[in-house]
Amino acid sequence: MSQNVVVLGAGMVGICCAIELRRRGHTVTLLDRNAPARETSWGNAGVLAGGSIQPEASPDIWRRLPHLLLNRGTDVHLHYRHLPRMTPFLRRFLANTRQPVYTRNAGAICALLDHAVSTHVALANEAGVSHLVKRRGWLKLYRSASALARSADDEQLLAEHGVEFTRLDPAAIAELEPALSPIFAGGRWITGAATVSNPGALGTAYAELFRGMGGRLETAEVRALRRVGDTWQVETHRGRFSAARVIVALGAWTPALLAPLGYRLPVVPERGYHQHYRPPAVPLNRPIHDIECGFVLAPMEMGYRLTTGVEWARLGAPPTPLQLARTLPRAREAVPIGEPVGDTWLGNRPQTPDTLPVIGEVPGQPDLWLATGHGHLGLSLGPITGILLAGVVSGESSDVDLSPYAPSRFR
Ligand SMILES: Cc1cc2nc3c(=O)[nH]c(=O)nc-3n(C[C@H](O)[C@H](O)[C@H](O)COP(=O)(O)OP(=O)(O)OC[C@H]3O[C@@H](n4cnc5c(N)ncnc54)[C@H](O)[C@@H]3O)c2cc1C
Repeated sequence: MSQNVVVLGAGMVGICCAIELRRRGHTVTLLDRNAPARETSWGNAGVLAGGSIQPEASPDIWRRLPHLLLNRGTDVHLHYRHLPRMTPFLRRFLANTRQPVYTRNAGAICALLDHAVSTHVALANEAGVSHLVKRRGWLKLYRSASALARSADDEQLLAEHGVEFTRLDPAAIAELEPALSPIFAGGRWITGAATVSNPGALGTAYAELFRGMGGRLETAEVRALRRVGDTWQVETHRGRFSAARVIVALGAWTPALLAPLGYRLPVVPERGYHQHYRPPAVPLNRPIHDIECGFVLAPMEMGYRLTTGVEWARLGAPPTPLQLARTLPRAREAVPIGEPVGDTWLGNRPQTPDTLPVIGEVPGQPDLWLATGHGHLGLSLGPITGILLAGVVSGESSDVDLSPYAPSRFR
């Protein structure tokens, strides 16, 4: 039965939910305080990450924990003042590093990631922007032979889940990417992954597709959510929006809206930065992930986008782009990128302690649905999340078991 639905948040996840709900005949309003895809969905590394099935909460984290907590590396930067607020999250995060839990979580990520490329290719075609999606895979590279050897478990996980990859030695890396300096001991080419040359433009095109399907886009700052009778009321700075159903897809800003309803969603911002640089004389053919130095370098329409690992800090705290400063010399060792172009950007990955997204109805709150918590994979998983969420809201059955992503796991 078609319904009047309001989707809160026009990031990649909310836009895709809105499209798929509209496709199923619902009357859909998509609400955001900004233009579509201007927050985290704008500045990411653009990888449709088939192959990134290893949960962040991995058994290996214990070996790296002292290094991480002392802010010694480039992959994590912790604001120490934020540590007391992070502690409950970290406790749950560490509980998910146990091998059986990690293996189960990897399977649940894989069940979604399997659809990342095909769903984006279909949507990008429909939106008339297929040129933004390139199907050349991406490279995961190791500088030291010891780190490469330690990644054998990751390789086994990829093989177990049928992820396509090619093992690379230094000669194969040089043949594939002549732009790279010969500093890598080896790595893997995740051949089935795709990349987006302008994630913001992709999100904008999807939002236009939604509008073209008869969807309504509104700009408003959401302030509160309450249930009155059998209707949900969304309070905004521009007045009230009422709907039979509400989908909350506010990324890292989701928990604050739900807390007054008595539902504590353990989603934290894992902040990340980017900066664009002028291209090198010899171009890269695909993004590279330098695993030990904790950065991704991705050729984009606006320059070479250097993206950082995780910063654990308060949502809205002033930017501290230390990781960019630390990784730039390491990135230049790999590829001779030129001068910076434009400003430094900061985004907020909405991360859950089990590194699985939250897709489903809020316990005890009928007709209030969540599509959030996509962490490092929200660009990749937007379209499949939209399909699954719109399907379950519309009473369709699904081939994908949705229980691993249920909001009720956090009660
Ligand atoms: C450095 C970096 C690199 C990344 N690389 C990749 C990658 O290569 N591949 C990948 O798959 N993922 C990547 N990610 C992760 C990905 O970008 C996120 O998971 C994804 O963008 C989350 O999408 P979202 O729609 O949930 O949230 P967002 O894009 O953050 O959207 C949330 C929306 O809610 C709106 N909003 C918030 N509060 C309010 C309010 N009160 N009222 C109205 N509107 C509100 C915001 O304006 C925003 O538009 C990366 C992230 C970072 C930071």
